[in-house]
Amino acid sequence: MIADAGGLLALVAKSSYLVAATLFLLGLQRMASPLTARSGIRWAGAGMLIATGATFLLPGLGNIGLILLAIALGTALAWVSGKKVAITDMPQMVALYNGLGGGSAAAIGAVELLRWSHAGAAPSAVALVLAVLGALIGSVALSGSVVAWAKLDGRMDKRYAFAGQQAFNALVFLAAVALGAVVVHSLGVPPVVAFFACALALGVLMTLPIGGADMPVVISLYNALTGLAVAFEGYVLGNEALIIAGTMVGAAGMLLTRLMAKAMNRSIRSVLFASFGGGGQAQAIEGAQKPIEAGDVAAMMAYAERVVIVPGYGMAVAQAQHKIWELAQRLIERGVKVKFAIHPVAGRMPGHMNVLLAEAGVPYDLIADMDDINPEFASTDVSLVIGANDVVNPVAKTDPASPIYGMPILDVVDSKNVVVIKRGKGTGFAGIENALFYADNARMLYGDGAEVAGALVGELKALDGGH
Ligand code: NDP
Repeated sequence: MIADAGGLLALVAKSSYLVAATLFLLGLQRMASPLTARSGIRWAGAGMLIATGATFLLPGLGNIGLILLAIALGTALAWVSGKKVAITDMPQMVALYNGLGGGSAAAIGAVELLRWSHAGAAPSAVALVLAVLGALIGSVALSGSVVAWAKLDGRMDKRYAFAGQQAFNALVFLAAVALGAVVVHSLGVPPVVAFFACALALGVLMTLPIGGADMPVVISLYNALTGLAVAFEGYVLGNEALIIAGTMVGAAGMLLTRLMAKAMNRSIRSVLFASFGGGGQAQAIEGAQKPIEAGDVAAMMAYAERVVIVPGYGMAVAQAQHKIWELAQRLIERGVKVKFAIHPVAGRMPGHMNVLLAEAGVPYDLIADMDDINPEFASTDVSLVIGANDVVNPVAKTDPASPIYGMPILDVVDSKNVVVIKRGKGTGFAGIENALFYADNARMLYGDGAEVAGALVGELKALDGGH
């Protein structure tokens, strides 16, 4: 009777996993559009809640008190940090959470490998190999994501390099694989500990030299690795929910990584094993930045035929998207053709600008991708750059010594007139000078993005007779 009850509960748990997996899938599908993304997050969250709850029904679950304590602590920390985080700090938070997922998978691997070491054997060769693989990938994702977090949060030099770094990293990678093989061959506490130390060091070393332009690709790669590690450890635990969720994160992350790498004209191999651009001394930029007043910019745009607005990270910092859309609407009412141009890595996370513009209510047909808009800049009267820097920097095409050399950019510099809104002479994520700001056709409109956009709206209103 008791065995039957246990079997029934296990059946309920496994069926709930199926419901959870369906919710993950539907949630992911809804996240494809900004309009349904919020509900997608809720659906996937409900799936996670069901999967976590159902796990308590599995027979033989021990340490319930500890598990509940961990859930309570994790929920409280996530709730408080989620409520407190500024929207501009979201990318760091995503990097950190992503790393914690990899770390959790690695922790499962560590617990199982140490348990099997004490017992003297693993349940099966497949489980042993997958536990080691999941632990390796999860550890790299954990320590690599922590370094990515530190770089995004401005706590660490963006591009830390030393001579012979790639060869040294290759050695550490080989050492981690060799130690993994030792663990598979003969379980034991010392090889397991050495293996984890090596895997964690590998994540740090791999991420240290990766600079501005490659960071987005690396973050989505670690996201994919986290999924893969979770799926492997799910197999080790015999837990279908982990296998399904991990596989989905791994597959979605891989697709995103490929898309980002393609948009940046890079292969994953070159992201990981070759620094962007050359070393050496970057070319000096001649000329001076030429300031302009809001009134002149408003008049220039009001009488233009075509205006392209190029948002970047600074628009997110200033939360200027609503004012910018108001500005665009005023221009459209005057008969100006307005478009928004989005670079695939503008901002600090994939889709960052799309999300902000969608939030402000900008219709999708006004938003153009880099490849579509680039041929149009030459016939654009005014390009209004707000808080974008690296993604419009022409040195990516002209200076082989630049750290962003080779990164595709928005060809804003080809426009008849360029106006750049930014607070001062601050550099972008890559930390380098921007040749666009010194170009003959470029003028600088200094100030906070939201304030300047507000001033431009005011000037346009005045031009329209105060309406
Ligand atoms: P950048 O980071 O290159 O430049 C942002 C600019 O915004 C700065 O030069 C700054 O100048 C200005 N700014 C900051 N605050 C304000 C404000 N309140 N009002 C007006 N301007 C402001 O941004 P981009 O979007 O051009 O480029 C993104 C960079 O981030 C790329 O290098 C990319 O590789 C990297 N990255 C992207 C990720 C992604 O997934 N999208 C992830 C990780 C990195 P000033 O201080 O003078 O105001």
